[in-house]
Amino acid sequence: MGKKVINSAAVLMSSALIFSSSAAVEAPFEIGTWGNFCKGAISHTFDDYPTSSTDQQVSSGQAAFDEKGFHMTLFVLPSSCNDDNWNSLKAAFAKGHEIASHNNQHNSNADGLKPSQNAIKSKVPGEMCVSIAYPNCQTPGNAQVLQTYIAGRNCTPNVNPKTPQNFAQIDSKMFGTCSGCPNDVNGLNSFADEAANKNGWGVYCHHGIGSDGHSWAVTNLNAMKEHLNYLDRNRDKIWCETFGNVARYIKERDAASLTVESSEPNQIKVKLTDNLPDSIYNYPLSIRCPLPEWWTATSRVTQDGIEVEDTIINVNSQDYLMFKAVPDGGDILIESGTRVRNLKLASATGKTVLLNKSGLSINAGQFSGSTIAVS
Ligand SMILES: [Zn+2]
Repeated sequence: MGKKVINSAAVLMSSALIFSSSAAVEAPFEIGTWGNFCKGAISHTFDDYPTSSTDQQVSSGQAAFDEKGFHMTLFVLPSSCNDDNWNSLKAAFAKGHEIASHNNQHNSNADGLKPSQNAIKSKVPGEMCVSIAYPNCQTPGNAQVLQTYIAGRNCTPNVNPKTPQNFAQIDSKMFGTCSGCPNDVNGLNSFADEAANKNGWGVYCHHGIGSDGHSWAVTNLNAMKEHLNYLDRNRDKIWCETFGNVARYIKERDAASLTVESSEPNQIKVKLTDNLPDSIYNYPLSIRCPLPEWWTATSRVTQDGIEVEDTIINVNSQDYLMFKAVPDGGDILIESGTRVRNLKLASATGKTVLLNKSGLSINAGQFSGSTIAVS
């Protein structure tokens, strides 16, 4: 009798393990731990705008990020913003930066949580304001925060694990002119390297930047520019995104379910879902599968009929098709490539062009278009 009970328990346990570890994402597909299958994630966050001499956050600081196409998070104080400030924030949001809450006023009162979010949502249309940084590093209460926000930032200088235990307590490290804080390119780069080495998420906390006069911490603008160059050279290793988007990504990645609906020689249909509210969790996950060997390198991926970002990457001598898709964003269709040759140069020479492996030859002198597709 005792033996029988143990056996049933063992069966129950093993089926639970199968469901928790392998049911969510159907092979050979994989979802990246981080965007672009990077080794680690980082977020650059800036506090206190528009108070305490922080204007450079939205001028020279933002320009440095815009130049490389990286996104910053601005934790702002809505009750201190005038019309000019809101216009600057709207312009920053339009470039992909996150406008998030530093509470309504610079304190840890729970009654500022919702009003600060509402103010940002109404003044910066489209911004869902999903995250908050605690003024003076003091939380208004974890449970209260998570009723309104998906993530809150504290000031403990650790790299966060790939799935933080408590989203109301996301650790961050201070940079700039504060005592003991790194403020050179090596210090900025090494925290990103640490995130990559730990497969984790490193959150930078800045206050002023460049010529800002903030009394607590001002990050050196030239060091930041060099650091952004470093990130630009390491896009396959370090994923730099806003605090809110990385939090979205983690929760979507952990909740995602991917199934192959149909698989034909030149077309695969995939369904990607999660159980999260779609109005907030709308950030694309990075997904990959080995490229079927008879496919060309110009495959096309669409979600709900719209072409999504995709690329071919080579990992350990295997070609993978990597693409981005939003959970609950509609069916994903992966189609084998159509071979495309750009004939612009060839037609300029007036010579005959032979398309590789197709057996079709074209007299480019009589060809008026610039491209031709052969499947
Ligand atoms: Zn502050």
